[in-house]
Amino acid sequence: MKERTRILVVGGGYVGMYTALRLQRKLKRELARGAAEITVVTPDPYMTYQPFLPEAAAGAISPRHVVVPLRRVLDRCHIVIGEASAIDHAARVATITTLADNEKGSGGRSGGGRAVAYDELVLAPGSVSRTLPIPGLADHAIGFKTLEEAIGLRNHVLEQMDIASSTRDPDVRDAALTFVFVGGGYAGVEALGELEDMARYTTRYYHNLRPEDMKWILVEASDRILPEVGEAMGRYTVSELRRRNIDVRLETRLESCADRVAVLSDGARFPTRTVVWTAGVTPHPVLAATDLARDERGRLRCTAELAVEGAPHAWAAGDAAAVPDTTAEDPGRDCAPNAQHALRQAKVLADNIAHSLRGEPLQAYAHSYAGSVASLGLHKGVAHVYGRRIKGYPAWFIHRTYHLSRVPTFNRKARVAAEWTLAGLFKREIVSLGSLEHPRAEFELAAGGKPSQDPPDNPKGSS
Ligand SMILES: Cc1cc2nc3c(=O)[nH]c(=O)nc-3n(C[C@H](O)[C@H](O)[C@H](O)COP(=O)(O)OP(=O)(O)OC[C@H]3O[C@@H](n4cnc5c(N)ncnc54)[C@H](O)[C@@H]3O)c2cc1C
Repeated sequence: MKERTRILVVGGGYVGMYTALRLQRKLKRELARGAAEITVVTPDPYMTYQPFLPEAAAGAISPRHVVVPLRRVLDRCHIVIGEASAIDHAARVATITTLADNEKGSGGRSGGGRAVAYDELVLAPGSVSRTLPIPGLADHAIGFKTLEEAIGLRNHVLEQMDIASSTRDPDVRDAALTFVFVGGGYAGVEALGELEDMARYTTRYYHNLRPEDMKWILVEASDRILPEVGEAMGRYTVSELRRRNIDVRLETRLESCADRVAVLSDGARFPTRTVVWTAGVTPHPVLAATDLARDERGRLRCTAELAVEGAPHAWAAGDAAAVPDTTAEDPGRDCAPNAQHALRQAKVLADNIAHSLRGEPLQAYAHSYAGSVASLGLHKGVAHVYGRRIKGYPAWFIHRTYHLSRVPTFNRKARVAAEWTLAGLFKREIVSLGSLEHPRAEFELAAGGKPSQDPPDNPKGSS
């Protein structure tokens, strides 16, 4: 081991947080005597537990409990709030832009930055929404990958119900009550399932809105949804959603959402203020600004030991990495981008860094996929675990207990369990707090200025 080994972890999500957490335990003695240091660079001071985003959107879990504070959990690491914008691994240098750089106006998020030298690199920036050049998409649609998007969408849906309730114009009302989701993976299906359930419940507090007045549409390009839970459970999910009056359109694509009209490939047109894009993910673009090997999909090419191919001392895992699935029947398959792999890979990755620093042999990553669970709203779910197909309330219950056991820290588990218990005793929360996104609007108006918030029919970040 060198006199002082500098480990740089880029990303504070599943892989970044769990790798740093295990490293600070494995290298406890080295950290204490200053022979090692771990720096985690990430844009937010928290790790987002993404599987809870649909429930956060439905109001079943408070936003604060969906995230894990990195400074508290990684108390022996340096946490730097910023972004890596480039990596020169040959020189062992990363270019990092921090919030302070933005304050000084020294180039903002995309330019400037300072060089940070390292000895070992863990590159785990995850993925971003995979978009297509569809007219109006960039202007009007919203993704469903971050806490901001989940909470923004909740507020937006509730606000649309308020708009619909307070107008006599049938066109405005119809557009406000039409919600289009594109992409039938678990992010899209769970987000739609939870939000529809929440909106259906909320209509009982409006004198002039009924559940049948709303149009919820799921658009999926392939002939099935939820591939994660297998074909039979995917078919069940389609029939369950249709039973709830949700318009599921398979083998259909969104062709345009310009001028706030969603135009589908089957010729249907829906004036709408809500287009949610969950049609897959693509590796984070920062990977292109490195000198590391990538595959045809832009992921870092990794060995089963989670080392980046041909780049000693560079490691990767999770959505950003192409890791061979050593348990797959057909050779050449990579692990799917999901939390199940990300979490387990992070543990092997941390162990391998410790092994490599101590000159010990590395361990190969091997985990056969246990299956998936998905929530479709309160008391509704679908699961395919260890070969067993489960639906309805039991699947929903498994979904909750599984994720409660998985969400990091006892503190978060206790808070989420308490919230679920209280939700069982009291009525659901139904207010939109969208105005929180514009805290200065009221004061600006009082001070005679022009409020800088977006017009009410175009809330920021939503369509
Ligand atoms: C709504 C939703 C529901 C999901 N549900 C499930 C589920 O039920 N089961 C399941 O197995 N999987 C689920 N997933 C997928 C799972 O969350 C991901 O596969 C997992 O988060 C991948 O982990 P990761 O560490 O690679 O990326 P992430 O957890 O996304 O972490 C990446 C981190 O890197 C940071 N970062 C990005 N760019 C930079 C940069 N330039 N510099 C520094 N840091 C950067 C990001 O801010 C983030 O903190 C879901 C995903 C979503 C969106």
